[in-house]
Amino acid sequence: MEKNTESKLPDKTDRKRSATPVDTISSLYSFPAAFASSSKKVLRSLNVFPLMSDKLFDGVKEFHSKDFIENREIFRQLQQEQHPHTLFIGCSDSRVVPSLITKSLPGELFIVRNIANIVPVHNMKQMDYVATSAVIEYAVKVLEVENIIICGHSNCGGCQALYYEPQRMRKLPQTRKWLSLAKSVKNSVKKKIAENPVLEPERSKMTEQLNIVQQMNHLLTYPYLRSKYQKGQIRLMGWYYAIETGDVYNYSVEKRVFEKIS
Ligand SMILES: [Zn+2]
Repeated sequence: MEKNTESKLPDKTDRKRSATPVDTISSLYSFPAAFASSSKKVLRSLNVFPLMSDKLFDGVKEFHSKDFIENREIFRQLQQEQHPHTLFIGCSDSRVVPSLITKSLPGELFIVRNIANIVPVHNMKQMDYVATSAVIEYAVKVLEVENIIICGHSNCGGCQALYYEPQRMRKLPQTRKWLSLAKSVKNSVKKKIAENPVLEPERSKMTEQLNIVQQMNHLLTYPYLRSKYQKGQIRLMGWYYAIETGDVYNYSVEKRVFEKIS
């Protein structure tokens, strides 16, 4: 009889007590409940909330019951520390999934993604755009990654937006400011196509690919990174991911062309 008592499911009070980690955090940082409920109402009226949030919650449950269990040993090893071999700088575009296209496991890639996979030029005086710069700094100085990949992609909205009239970007002042970091790319492409006119799809591809090379150049403005690169201690790569075919092209520094990885 006593055994049965010990193995019984915890009652409501016990369950409440076992949820302390979440409770502790929510008491420190609370999200205004009024905002949350009104936002839910809007989303429900759009018929978005039930569908998409269920999908995300179901995904978490499936990850935990299947993928996590299957890779339990990897997660156990990663519990204390990480040793990623590569810093992956990609576009925020939802269609670019670094771990998927490189078949990498957790712990392998240190990732930063932003609109149009831009690397701000190193500038210690202004300390602007530090989100991306901090990731580069940490990856190179602390994690000592062996590779850095700048990965652009086909049909990049960020690269297309470089050509938008200012009026079209009026409601997006921060995006416009961010994209101004790639202004030189647009100017170079414009100069090139002034001599040899091309249709818009070709202009887009030229912009996306030239942007990758330009961001590789920006990486070398980071003194500590440049020094490692010159000593052969770190490898820089520029990749172009074609969403429609799944092909990935690697930039050949010697030939100055993107070559399909096959
Ligand atoms: Zn993009």
